[in-house]
Amino acid sequence: MNSSNAASILEPQSRVQVDLSAFGQNVRTLKRLIPTSTRFCAVVKANAYGHGGIQCAKTALENGASFLAVVRISEAVTMRHAGITAPILLLGEALPEQVSFLASHGIRASVADIQAARALSAAAQALNTTLKIHIKLDTGMGRLGFLHPDVGISKSGNAAGIRQAAGIAGLKGLGVEGAYTHFAKADIIDKTHAKEQLTRFNEMVAMLTDMRIYPEIRHAANSAAVLELPEAHFDMVRPGVAMYGMAPSDEVDIARHKLTPIMSITAKIIYVKAVPENFSVSYGCTHVTTAPTVIATVPIGYADGYSRLLSNQGYMLVKGQKAPIVGRVTMDFTMIDVGHIPGVKPGDDVTILGPQGNERITADDIAGLTGTINYEVTTGLTGRMPVLH
Ligand SMILES: *Cc1c(COP(=O)(O)O)cnc(C)c1O
Repeated sequence: MNSSNAASILEPQSRVQVDLSAFGQNVRTLKRLIPTSTRFCAVVKANAYGHGGIQCAKTALENGASFLAVVRISEAVTMRHAGITAPILLLGEALPEQVSFLASHGIRASVADIQAARALSAAAQALNTTLKIHIKLDTGMGRLGFLHPDVGISKSGNAAGIRQAAGIAGLKGLGVEGAYTHFAKADIIDKTHAKEQLTRFNEMVAMLTDMRIYPEIRHAANSAAVLELPEAHFDMVRPGVAMYGMAPSDEVDIARHKLTPIMSITAKIIYVKAVPENFSVSYGCTHVTTAPTVIATVPIGYADGYSRLLSNQGYMLVKGQKAPIVGRVTMDFTMIDVGHIPGVKPGDDVTILGPQGNERITADDIAGLTGTINYEVTTGLTGRMPVLH
C-alpha cells in the first residue's frame, strides 16, 4: 500500500501508525529467548491486535517467525490472498465445509473434540486429501480442548476427556501435526497454576503417545511464557501481545527485555475556539469551564474504538504537553482543553496514543482509565482509521 497517498487523501482524520521496524526488532528479541530449534508462531489474530494483520504477518516472517496463528478462517483467507504462504494454525473451530480450502492452502485446524474430528475426517476423505490438525488440550484454561482425566465428570469417562482423543488415531484424512495448550495465568508472578498446566500438558502428550498419536509440534507458550517460563517453549511458541511491544500484564516486565510499543494514533486538530468561564462542552454538558480557556476538537471518537469511557478522563498530547479530554467522547469527535498550551490552531498534530516530545501515552494508560487491558485497547480499534506502516 502507498501509505503516504492514503494519508493525504484521508486527511484530516485520525490514523494508526505502526512502526514495522520496531515490530521486527521485537520479534527478533523474542526469538533470541527461545532455542533455535523451537519454531516461532506469530499470533496475528484480530488484525494483529489492531496493528494490521498482513503487514505484521509478513514482517514477523521476515524476522524469524515460521508459523502464523489466527482464530477465524476469514483471517487465514486474507493472509493467503496477500500471498503469504507460511503455515497457518487456526486456533478457532474449523467446519467440514472448509476442509477443501484449509487442506489446499496449508492451513492447520485445531481439534478439540472427537465429533469434530470425525466430521473433518469424513470431509477430507471425500476430497481425497489430508488435513493437518493440532490437538487442543485443556490443561486449565477452561476454554477449548480435551480435558485431563483428573477433571473427569464421572468414573465412566468424560465426553470431553482426553481418552476420547484415542479415536483420532484411526481417522483417515487427518494428519496430526501438533498438540497444544493455552495458559490461563502465565502472566502473574506466581507461576504455580502455569506449572500445574505444564505438568498436565506433559502427561496428556504422553497419553496421546500411548494412543499411537505422535504430535511432532508440541506448543504452549503465549507471550508471558515465552518471557518467563522456558520449560514451556517445547517445539514452538505462540507469542502475541509482546511482539506488539505491550506487556501481557503489569506483573510481566517487558522493558527489561527491551520490547517497545509499535503503535501510535495521531490526528490533526480540526477546530479551535476560545471560550468563556461557565461554558459547557459536549453531550450532557458534563464539563463546564471554571475559567476562560481554549477548546480544541479532535477527529476521533468511539466509532473508531476510542472508548466513551474516556469522557472527562485521560488526555492527548499537543506540542509535547498533556491536554485533558473535556466532556463526553462522541461518535466522531473528542474535545480537549488546550488553554494552557499557547498558539494551538487547526492543523496542529495531536497524539492520542504513543510518544510526542518527552511524553508518551501507552495502551496501558488508556486501559487503566477505561477498566480494561492493553489488548482490548489496540484490538478494539474498529478498522475505521487507516493503519499506516
Ligand atoms: C491469543 C493467543 C495467544 C497469544 O497470547 P498473548 O498473551 O497475546 O501472547 C497464544 N495462544 C492462543 C491459543 C491464543 O488464543
